[in-house]
Amino acid sequence: MVILFLGAPGAGKGTQASVISKKLGIPHISTGDIFREAVSQGTELGKKAKEYMDRGELVPDEIVIGIVKERLSKDDCRNGFVLDGFPRTVAQAEALDSALSELGKNLDFVFNVEVSEDEIVRRLTGRRTCKQCNAVYHIEFNPSKVEAVCDVCGGELYQRDDDREETVRNRIKVYNEKTAPLIDYYQRKGILIDINGELPVEKVTEEILKYLSK
Ligand code: ADP
Ligand code: ADP
Ligand code: ZN
Repeated sequence: MVILFLGAPGAGKGTQASVISKKLGIPHISTGDIFREAVSQGTELGKKAKEYMDRGELVPDEIVIGIVKERLSKDDCRNGFVLDGFPRTVAQAEALDSALSELGKNLDFVFNVEVSEDEIVRRLTGRRTCKQCNAVYHIEFNPSKVEAVCDVCGGELYQRDDDREETVRNRIKVYNEKTAPLIDYYQRKGILIDINGELPVEKVTEEILKYLSK
């Protein structure tokens, strides 16, 4: 099973991808998480990615595509995977198509998580992320049981540098220019499913599971 989550920053892709990946027992692959991991380890990739991430710009396609291809060739991906935050450009979507055909796989579902711009800003500015396991919380909509401590692993929660309002505005602009065209791309392939992302987390999950169980 190959599932992809499309949507603006803050739409809830990561939150849903994480639940679905656990339910189906297939890996959750987030390019954002891969880059943040590289940044925190101070690798060459991390240094390069950080320049773009801090400005709310996209990391160049050649870098992203290489990383994803390598990740998809790992053994744990043989029964499928959930992609979150990739592809973000038409070039990435085309690269994914060819990577999948090399792996003998098909894209089964593309969920387009729709949320208004005001809601995006509220979600991103209140988002908190676990330093250790990448679990995602919201100070108001999905708080951790103990303030600033991860429910899953006890790790410390922090606010991502790029979740400040100035950067958020640019990320939305970049999304509209570079990523929104993918809605059309997948619609034409007949595999796009629009999901109302404004509902509470559990309701959005229910909606997605309805399609997956069909
Ligand atoms: P969000 O969950 O808020 O959409 P991500 O964690 O997916 O953000 O991504 C954070 C940043 O990492 C992006 O703003 C971008 O700089 C970089 N990034 C992540 N995935 C990609 C991608 N597929 N292509 C280019 N840049 C990416
Ligand atoms: P994305 O991966 O699309 O950037 P996230 O899954 O990281 O989005 O969610 C962004 C923020 O919004 C997080 O703080 C998360 O806890 C919160 N969130 C996610 N889904 C919902 C929802 N359905 N209702 C309210 N808040 C949500
Ligand atoms: Zn954690």
